[in-house]
Amino acid sequence: MWHRAFLIALVVLLAVLMIFSRGYRAARRIHLPACDTGQKEDKDMMKGDAFYLPDITKDMLLGHIDPAKDDGFTLIDRSHASRPGMYLRTRAYDAFMAMRNAALDDGISLVILSAARPFNHQRRIWENKWNGLQVLHGDILATDIPDPLDRAREILRFSAMPGTSRHHWGTDIDLNSLQNEYFESGEGQKVYQWLQEYAAVFGFCQPYTAFGKQREEGYEEEKWHWSYRPLASEFLRTYEDMVSYDDIVGFDGYETAKKLRVIETYVSGIDPDCL
Ligand SMILES: [Zn+2]
Repeated sequence: MWHRAFLIALVVLLAVLMIFSRGYRAARRIHLPACDTGQKEDKDMMKGDAFYLPDITKDMLLGHIDPAKDDGFTLIDRSHASRPGMYLRTRAYDAFMAMRNAALDDGISLVILSAARPFNHQRRIWENKWNGLQVLHGDILATDIPDPLDRAREILRFSAMPGTSRHHWGTDIDLNSLQNEYFESGEGQKVYQWLQEYAAVFGFCQPYTAFGKQREEGYEEEKWHWSYRPLASEFLRTYEDMVSYDDIVGFDGYETAKKLRVIETYVSGIDPDCL
């Protein structure tokens, strides 16, 4: 008799444990914090929490977005931006503000030079280079490079093809200067050291680190480009699942994307600390 009661108790205990651990794993998988007490404030907190994830669509991944008309985005305050009219996903912007304020307390000033960029913006950047309207780094003129693959490869050292930029996602920012040299001495070096030490505390990481054991291919090092990891890592994971070369179209030179394996090499070619 007693061992039947014991068995029933054991089964009940196991069932409770299974339900509990499934709920815990599910909560971890969607990165919800343990704040669901059912109170209104907590619900609002969950919705507005730093780990809140939007339903990611292919249009969002490819930059077919209009941040000014999308309530998932927030207009960046002009006081810490190099120009007006830039947007970030609200969660990423809130995290940036927390990071910026902490940096200010340490005498470090963070200024956003670029944030969310829709497809057409990236297309202008790409096509201006592709068609020789803008010279590349080191005064290279892309139109002097007749082979399309070589031409694309040269532009890809620092610029993404439309449809493949992390800036489409509204999770990534360029800070202070678009030159690595700025971050290597004086004020810029202080900024970079601060970011290296503290950015991760606020959820930010540097996807394009120097080539080495951690990262062997992709864009060259960009000390200015920082990514809000809780959102961006989900965007990347979804991108790898959802986007194919049939989607990388609509700009001059798009035919080179597949041959250069831009998804595998450039989109996925980031520092593992950003995954
Ligand atoms: Zn960037």
